[in-house]
Amino acid sequence: MSQTTAQTLKPMLIQGEWVSTPGQEFDVVNPATGTVNYRMSAADAQQVDLAVTTAHHAAHQLAWRNMLPHLRARLLMAIADGIEARKEDLARCQMLENGKVWSECLAQAGSAAATFRYYAAVCETMVSEVTPSRGAYLSMTRYEPYGVVAAITPWNSPLTMEAQKVAPALAAGNAVVLKPSEVTPSGALLLGEIALASGLPAGILNVVTGLGGVTGKALIEHPLVRMISFTGGTATGRAIGVAAAQRLIPTALELGGKSPHILFADANLSAAVDGVVDGIYEGTGQSCVAGSRLFVQRQVLDEVLDRLMQKANGIRVGLPDVADSEMGPAASFAHRDHIERYIQSARDEGGEILAGGYRPDAPELAQGAFIRPTLIAGLSNQAKAVREEIFGPVLCVLPFEDEDDLIAQANDTTYGLASGVWTADYQKAWRVADKLQTGLVWINTYKQLSISTPFGGYKDSGLGREKGLSGMRLYQQSKGIYWSMNPNNMP
Ligand code: NDP
Repeated sequence: MSQTTAQTLKPMLIQGEWVSTPGQEFDVVNPATGTVNYRMSAADAQQVDLAVTTAHHAAHQLAWRNMLPHLRARLLMAIADGIEARKEDLARCQMLENGKVWSECLAQAGSAAATFRYYAAVCETMVSEVTPSRGAYLSMTRYEPYGVVAAITPWNSPLTMEAQKVAPALAAGNAVVLKPSEVTPSGALLLGEIALASGLPAGILNVVTGLGGVTGKALIEHPLVRMISFTGGTATGRAIGVAAAQRLIPTALELGGKSPHILFADANLSAAVDGVVDGIYEGTGQSCVAGSRLFVQRQVLDEVLDRLMQKANGIRVGLPDVADSEMGPAASFAHRDHIERYIQSARDEGGEILAGGYRPDAPELAQGAFIRPTLIAGLSNQAKAVREEIFGPVLCVLPFEDEDDLIAQANDTTYGLASGVWTADYQKAWRVADKLQTGLVWINTYKQLSISTPFGGYKDSGLGREKGLSGMRLYQQSKGIYWSMNPNNMP
């Protein structure tokens, strides 16, 4: 693939070839500076059809379908090495497109390599089952790929999300058509380039860039797509779920969140406040697991608010490539407008803005989509900013009286992705973790993640679990085989 400049039209990857679509393009903008990074090719239904058809043929090639697990694992390891070798290039793609600070982009590129390594190991070691038989036959369960998987990713952490979908889908023997967000397309293209250079057969991983309503829609509606893996907002996920239901194909949906972060009076307040601050402001709050609703036991509310104000006001908002920047811009100007609308709604509903709520005034940030870390108190659990996902650096703080009150408030949400509990009482931690309706619970920590632990949400936060062994099964369908040991033996 050619190197890019602001004027370059970046091509997409179909059938191992770089395909440009002059005249059918969109801008990719750097949210820290407002400048156009490059123009990107946009796939229409015809290019999507070519990508899916290509993937379908590639998936059914015997050399790919029957590849021995240790050889498939070797290929995934080679991709992991390729990612590691180009970690800085991948990190730069992400930083220039969603504005995350450099250290976080680099860490996410490293995590993408680790994900490929993990699924290489899973691919080589995961077993099929011999199940208990009820007669003179051998009964077995084996796991087969679906064929073509459509993988659709959002803009907040594209490097990790793309690895989390592509690595297990390939490990399971599928071919993939990847559609990254229009905001962050180039990391996916570089992943495609790395995979090709690592020896992945052409057509097994295709990357189509373009707008969700055109490229994404054509992809999910394509009759040869046999499974959809989507991460993004709940409204888009619901629409994709409906389209998949019409076609009776499975979907994995990793969606939004409004995670309760809970601080009991007996907690180590200093550690808890640090955890709360990282849990909401890291990545400019654009994280599906951001702890955006903070419930504080009333007797320590004032002290916690004081500490939070100091921390939020002390966060260094800056250009993502400057070494001491702790928080970059919102990922796009449209997204900053969206965040600001929620802050205004909090004001309108009587919320008190204790920190932030405005754009930083440093001249070097004036052209970017920056917004200060924002802390809001005084809202009810029914306020719009408390109920809806803002996906920005906005923390709403609410008091609670006791465990019953806390559980009622924390679970009073349509979402159920993650939660965090800080307390010195291990029995209380256990009771609360048991009652929280979320797919993940952190106790005296927050945002710790492991590729081995299944990840996904309750309620409107999604369907299915990525990561871990279940993250591989997501991309496989089981086949039961009954094999008679006695030809005359019929039931
Ligand atoms: P969107 O739902 O808007 O978009 C996600 C992806 O879907 C993008 O690639 C988008 O393309 C594409 N898309 C949009 N419309 C369609 C359509 N009709 N058919 C097919 N594809 C479509 O989410 P965002 O990109 O705004 O991401 C933010 C959301 O993602 C947040 O709500 C967040 O909570 C959630 N998220 C969830 C995570 C989880 O694991 N649970 C992790 C990270 C984020 P395009 O960009 O071109 O519009």
